[in-house]
Amino acid sequence: MKENNSCHTDSCGCTTPIFGSERMLQSAPCETIPCHPTSPEIAYQMVKDETFAQTQPRLNLATFVTTYMDKYATRLMNEAIAVNYIDETEYPRVAVMNAKCINIMANLWNSPEQNKWKTGAIAIGSSEACMLGGVAAWLRWKARRKAAGKPCDKPNFVISSGYQVVWEKFAQLWQIEMRTVPLTHEHITLDIEKAISMCDENTICVVPIQGVTWTGLNDDVEALNQALEKYNASTGHNVPIHVDAASGGFILPFLQPEKRWDFRLKWVLSISTSGHKYGLVYPGLGWVVWKDKSYLPEEMSFSVNYLGANITQVGLNFSRPAAQILGQYYQFIRLGFEGYKAIQQSSMAVAEYLHAEIAKMPQFHAYSTTLENPLFIWSLKDDYAKKAKWTLFDLQDRLKQSGWMVPAYTMPKDIEDMTVMRIVVRQGFSRDMADMLLADIKNYISDLEKLEYPTESRIATDKKDCHKRKWHLFSHTGR
Ligand SMILES: *Cc1c(COP(=O)(O)O)cnc(C)c1O
Repeated sequence: MKENNSCHTDSCGCTTPIFGSERMLQSAPCETIPCHPTSPEIAYQMVKDETFAQTQPRLNLATFVTTYMDKYATRLMNEAIAVNYIDETEYPRVAVMNAKCINIMANLWNSPEQNKWKTGAIAIGSSEACMLGGVAAWLRWKARRKAAGKPCDKPNFVISSGYQVVWEKFAQLWQIEMRTVPLTHEHITLDIEKAISMCDENTICVVPIQGVTWTGLNDDVEALNQALEKYNASTGHNVPIHVDAASGGFILPFLQPEKRWDFRLKWVLSISTSGHKYGLVYPGLGWVVWKDKSYLPEEMSFSVNYLGANITQVGLNFSRPAAQILGQYYQFIRLGFEGYKAIQQSSMAVAEYLHAEIAKMPQFHAYSTTLENPLFIWSLKDDYAKKAKWTLFDLQDRLKQSGWMVPAYTMPKDIEDMTVMRIVVRQGFSRDMADMLLADIKNYISDLEKLEYPTESRIATDKKDCHKRKWHLFSHTGR
């Protein structure tokens, strides 16, 4: 074996105190594996320290993903950290627990399936769950087309421009055309009429979203179902619905149980959600459920025989941690329907409080009047923004100084001139923390209002606007 030149005999530092050791004076490995072992105390310290300065997860109001579980849930999950979900023969109870979770999800979404074990699959998050729902819709469409002797080389699906990035991945990786219905100032959720007008014989499904990542709002699945019923009857097509309920899947059953968005609707054939968002489990966990076994194409179930029995599995991953299944099942038992309801209600209450307080501030404009999920966006008032020397990106930077992560971003195409800020309220974000955040927002704004010169981000925005105005003028002169 060739000797690595950069290797010198090195004392392992085992006997010196951590911060007195030679190892702690060296930089952490970046390109090549270190030559020698390091004592566990020092290795731990080095890894821990590297992540030490990061945001406190509970001050991160950008993420949808669970940052708080109680100590029993944490203990259960830690104790299961070595369990691989795929080893069903070794851990048969985990597989059963997984199936129980799928049953519970299916029933929360009013599944009509009569089988003892409902049809669904675990995923690493909504991304994998959406992929599985999308692939199933594609394969069902393909089988139907083949049977009718029709070409199946140009599949498409329809979704609003408020889609989460996973749908772009789905379109790219499976080469399925994504037809996007623009969100506009008039249509702040999926424009149903426009969505229907984009459907044709090659449409594998329409994907409404419950808890749109960009806005927190819900697409109207019931109206879409009605419109598709009419469309399918008149065209003879068979365009179904996959609901991307990454957030809403765990909010609607508890807070709006009477609202029809789920399997009660005829054309809803599959639903996906993130167990690690409002399912209240640490990452990564997602679920996808089909209305009935018949909607999950057989080609999607793969069998392996080398784990000690014949195991059939649906999913993109093979090995994956089982701890999240224990975490989800624990939450179902620990909280029950009433517990979930209380937690979601309290996240909603804090979100509504923050939303109202922010809407009251003279600089801000709320995007919507009511909240459907515990998250919301807002922008600067148009006339205020014109005069201000700062933008929401500056406010994001300031808030970061106090540890808050409150993202500012521009909206999707067609309303990309709009810059917004978003807050996602999750379990663990209290009313008291909301008050601290509001005080910080007010203080930073008062600093920003004292600025003598415009900020860089403000100057950049002006340049962009100016460019756009010129272009606008130009294109109107009918060159
Ligand atoms: C978060 C989200 C996803 C992706 O979910 P992950 O669980 O992060 O993989 C997909 N769709 C929507 C609407 C989301 O909000």
